[in-house]
Formats: sequence, C-alpha cells, structure tokens
Amino acid sequence: APWASMPCQPRRISVCIRKRPLNQREVELNDTDVVTVSCQGMVIVHEAKQKLDLTQYLNNQVFRFDHAFDGHAANELVYRHTAQPLVDIIFQGGMATCFAYGQTGSGKTHTMRGSISSKGIYVLVAEDVFRRLQYPNYQKLELWVYGAFFEIYRDKVFDLLNRKKRLRVLEDGKKQTQVVGLCEKEVTSMEDVIRLIETGSSCRMAGQTSANTQSSRSHAIFQIILKKRGQLYAKFSLIDLAGNERGADITTADKQTRLEGADINKSLLALKECIRALRHNKAHTPFRASKLTQVLRDSIIGRNSYTCMIATISPGIRSCEHTLNTLRYANCVK
Ligand code: ADP
Ligand code: MG
Repeated sequence: APWASMPCQPRRISVCIRKRPLNQREVELNDTDVVTVSCQGMVIVHEAKQKLDLTQYLNNQVFRFDHAFDGHAANELVYRHTAQPLVDIIFQGGMATCFAYGQTGSGKTHTMRGSISSKGIYVLVAEDVFRRLQYPNYQKLELWVYGAFFEIYRDKVFDLLNRKKRLRVLEDGKKQTQVVGLCEKEVTSMEDVIRLIETGSSCRMAGQTSANTQSSRSHAIFQIILKKRGQLYAKFSLIDLAGNERGADITTADKQTRLEGADINKSLLALKECIRALRHNKAHTPFRASKLTQVLRDSIIGRNSYTCMIATISPGIRSCEHTLNTLRYANCVK
C-alpha cells in the first residue's frame, strides 16, 4: 500500500477511519458497500437519496482524516499509524490514549482486543512496550509495567480484574483523578498481559446473553502503566467505547435502555468537547461532565498527552446513517 512507507510522527491528536469489509450476513442480504476510502485519508459516503419523483440519486459526502483504512487493512497496519507512534511517548513520561469509536458491529473490539487470528492493539502495544524495556536508553529508567482493566457502565466504574467491583473516582487537590482501589497487576511477560486481557474480557462478558448486548453499552478501558520506584511514570489507555448508536436509544420505550442511552450520549459528548478544548487550547475543559472524561483527565488533558482515535465504520447502505454520524463526530474531534 502506498501509505506503508510514510513516516509516522506522533501527533497530539490524530483521527483515522477504519472501514470493515462487508460481512457474510450483509452479503446475503444484498447490502451494498457505499463507502470509499483512499490512503490520503479521504472518506466518501455515497448516500442514496430519494427525489420527489422517487428516482434515486447519489449524494456524495466527503470527509478528510489523518488516515483511512479499508477492509483489507490488517490490525498491524492500523496500529502502525495510530497507537504505535505513541509508545515512545510513554517512555518519555508522557500520557497516551487510543480510542475506538463507532457503531456496534463496526469493528471496535476487533481493532482493540483482536481475535485468535489477529492481534489487537492491546497486545501490539504491550509487545512494543516489552521490546522497548530492553533498549539501553530505556533500560536505565528502571521502569516496571502494570496492567489495569475496568469498565464504565451507567457512569459507574467497575474493575474487570476484580469481579466487577464498583470503584469510586476521587479528585485529589493536585488536579488528578484517582480510581480508588483499582487493581493494577504487575506484568513481566506477554503471557501475563494476555492472561490479564482474557480475565478482564471474560469478566466483562459474564452473565450476558449474547455477545453484543451489554458490552456495547459500556466503555472498556485497558491501561498499560509504567511505574518508577513505585510512582506513576506514564500510562497508555486503550479504550473500546460503547456503541455510539446506543446514544440514540433515548426515545425507546424501555426505561433501562433509555437511561443507558442517555449516559452514553453524555459521555461521548463530553469526550468530544474535551478533545476539542484540548485541540483549541481552551482554558476550560469540561472533563467533569462524565466519568469517562473524569477518569481520563490526566491522560487526555495533561501537558504531555497524546490522543488518537480510530473511528470504525460499517460499509453497508443499511448502516449509512450511523456511518455518517460516526464520521461527523470524528470530524469534530480532528
Ligand atoms: P464492535 O466491537 O464495534 O461492536 P466487533 O469488533 O465485535 O464490533 O466486530 C463485529 C464483527 O465484525 C466481528 O465478528 C469481527 O470479527 C468482524 N470485523 C470487524 N472489523 C473487521 C475487519 N476489519 N476485518 C474483518 N472482520 C472484522
Ligand atoms: Mg465490541
């Protein structure tokens, strides 16, 4: 691919789009692929509109991002242009964050956690962290690596490494927020990391009837934490956000679903506003508007912090509305 040779410099905020391939079900339903992406970061949605005389015409909506990946792009390629350039940032004591944002079923978990056949960003970051621990320059920093994994559901924090124990979030006097009692497990090998991801993921799915019910309504936050002499040195937060279409559930009859939708809406809005404030160097950042932004405060608002967002989209015409919503959101953040 032509973009494979482009240098990857870390940027304060970068936004890329990842389109997944049409799946079996969409192919069977004769769904058509209405999204074209180009390696320069261009995304075109061929939106079908009905005219008054009922003939259809195509309305092209064009967006531009730092990168755009099509259905052929492997996790490694996406990683190389998003989270990987930020690994050195944490070794320099900075904070890094990578979000997967998008509709349920568009590929957030595929990107972040990966699958048996393809490593996700959690694993790819951890591998690079362990590799760097061997570099002479970084070796002398004497860093220790820890992992944490928690979820935010209905604006409450639950520890995925400690049987979904509910945790409180406190602000100390030094403009830091703390998740009190969060389990931080030391990891010294990739086996440790993988075990931790599996423990957390199965805890997240426990008690659910189908794969995408509750997990699509919560934000999952996996953190790789570097410590020096027992003190926090840096953090890499990898976030699998709740399905953004859930935020639209606020008009449904079911009260629980409505409340969930309202919380998701609120947190995704707060996230957008915080990143925008950061980008425009605004004095006020509304991080208190949601738990999500509150717990990520030091990571996204800190002076030496870097954020990347991977907005995942489905290619099908049936997902067109959600796809446009995702692209508009990503466009605001970039
Ligand atoms: P989400 O977490 O956004 O709800 P998933 O990551 O669970 O979505 O993806 C839904 C399905 O689509 C999964 O079966 C996943 O393996 C598949 N999928 C997603 N993205 C890709 C991709 N880029 N290439 C191949 N399959 C994908
Ligand atoms: Mg998911």
